[in-house]
Amino acid sequence: MSWQQELRCAITTQAELAAKLELTAEERLGIEQAARAGFGLSVTPYYLGLCDPHDPSCPIRRQIIPHALEARAAEGDLRDPLGEAAHEVAPRLIQRYPDRALLLVTDQCAVHCRFCTRSRTLGRGRGAAPLALLGEALRYLRGHPEIRDVILSGGDPLCMSTSRLCALVQAVRSIPHVETIRLGTRAPVCLPSRITAELVRALGRYHPIWVMTHFNHPRELSAQAARACTRLVDGGFPVMNQTVLLRGVNDDPLVLAELWRTLVRWRVRPYYLMQMDPVAGSAHLRTPLERGIEILEQLQGKLSGIALPKLVVDTPGGQGKVPLGPNYIVGRAPGCTRLRTPLGSEVDYLDPPARQR
Ligand SMILES: *Cc1c(COP(=O)(O)O)cnc(C)c1O
Repeated sequence: MSWQQELRCAITTQAELAAKLELTAEERLGIEQAARAGFGLSVTPYYLGLCDPHDPSCPIRRQIIPHALEARAAEGDLRDPLGEAAHEVAPRLIQRYPDRALLLVTDQCAVHCRFCTRSRTLGRGRGAAPLALLGEALRYLRGHPEIRDVILSGGDPLCMSTSRLCALVQAVRSIPHVETIRLGTRAPVCLPSRITAELVRALGRYHPIWVMTHFNHPRELSAQAARACTRLVDGGFPVMNQTVLLRGVNDDPLVLAELWRTLVRWRVRPYYLMQMDPVAGSAHLRTPLERGIEILEQLQGKLSGIALPKLVVDTPGGQGKVPLGPNYIVGRAPGCTRLRTPLGSEVDYLDPPARQR
């Protein structure tokens, strides 16, 4: 199937889904609730094909099939966990850091992930923003020379046609102070057919472009996904992966080690392990903050440095991302720091004598 057919044939109803897999009562209820709440089921035939039709705890199913628990409110849940509405500096442009900005170019995605941080806006009918609608955002970028890095996200920019996407990328690239462009996309994971030779050639004219993708589980590492990643890397796009830590999906060091090792073999760099945003209705998929720290601690020293991402939490309210990790400092005295090592020992690190500093 071509990528356009994949998108046109997206599965969005309970009846279509029930024809492909055995649904549980909680899933049936979840699908009805989600449709009423405005963030319904949507999945490409390709990604649905990765599901286990008989196992409701399948890591792909948990990511895409609404569950009855989505109706349950949890303390601290927010509709807009990252305060994006408050940080919008122009329509669809969010700036939270001095040197970077995030441009939301479409509200369409190949797949509706149940833990989506933008479920409040996704698929709500705005569709791909025509260039004219982004005029104000582009003017803002042009008027702010401190912005060196522009992230195109959404929705998924790769759900747009190649010509529309290239027109937009060209408009951003023509701003002299923009050094790097990033494309935030789950296409390599959910719609690998989108990564055509034509797309790679067309976008390659606007390098440097970094691709930020989103693999969460080894079950997503299909031959098609490998081809999509290889094509991007061969086309000169550094590919970075952001994994969201998900309860019952990937909150296990062995699962993540397998995922990240394979990605490295594909030349995709595990960049972030993201603590899940407290988006309304997703508490059942969220882990305690401590869990991510424990997982990293178990992998530190066991997994190649290039396969180990940084754990970050995007602070609720949109004050920026904060890195988290195990603490290796066990004590400090003037000029001396005691560290615990991955081998379990403790060693002192001595600073240089004060005079030489
Ligand atoms: C996450 C994010 C970025 C990018 O952050 P990096 O740490 O540079 O990857 C930029 N802008 C916004 C609004 C973000 O949420």
